[in-house]
Amino acid sequence: MTIQKQRETIVSFGRKMITSQLTTGAGGNLSVCDRAAGRVAISPSGIEYFDLKPEDVVITDLNGQVIEGRYQPSSELGFHLALYHERQDVNAVVHTHSVYATTMACLGWEIPAVHYLVGFSGYKVPLAPYATFGTPELARNVTDSIGAYNAVLLANHGLVSVGGDMARAFNTAEEIELVARIYYQAKSVGEPVVLPDEEMERVLARFATYGQSPKDKGHV
Ligand code: 13P
Ligand code: ZN
Repeated sequence: MTIQKQRETIVSFGRKMITSQLTTGAGGNLSVCDRAAGRVAISPSGIEYFDLKPEDVVITDLNGQVIEGRYQPSSELGFHLALYHERQDVNAVVHTHSVYATTMACLGWEIPAVHYLVGFSGYKVPLAPYATFGTPELARNVTDSIGAYNAVLLANHGLVSVGGDMARAFNTAEEIELVARIYYQAKSVGEPVVLPDEEMERVLARFATYGQSPKDKGHV
């Protein structure tokens, strides 16, 4: 992926974070990693997404050294890089403050398999213990808690999702927000039924072949 394409991906999906109501203002952050080039493109700290231009996106190496960019990188660069180091399958990271997922995180709850779409994360969405935003301790808590899942709640803070590319990491953030909302609503009127692990195993197996193959999409 060219640097320009990486920059444009951060701008377009940053805007989608706002239009999809996954965050507000400059909240949250996102990055993509080109492993072959050893290059990470990440949103700058504290800039509103609709003010963000491709040239404002910060480019770093995998150790956090800034290669290009006049702005400071996101204050959460630490957990983005930690995830790229710990998870070789991950090339994109999305961090949101989406309302229902964050509600669960403020209760100190994980999200169980109340709806099969939790499979975008895995059998559940785990919860990382609280640590101050932008700290090495938060980065450690994120990598320790996410394990092999594709999403993790940050206690009293928000959600982090990961994927092989930005489209997938973003879609996971959207679907987990939907599941969190359903969980909240179901909990408001009764006790939701949680799918057993054996059923989630079947769901995850079906996810592997769901939708169009790359050939059908015209990519090959
Ligand atoms: P940045 O603007 O520095 O990315 O911080 C936003 C945020 O969500 C911190 O957790
Ligand atoms: Zn945050």
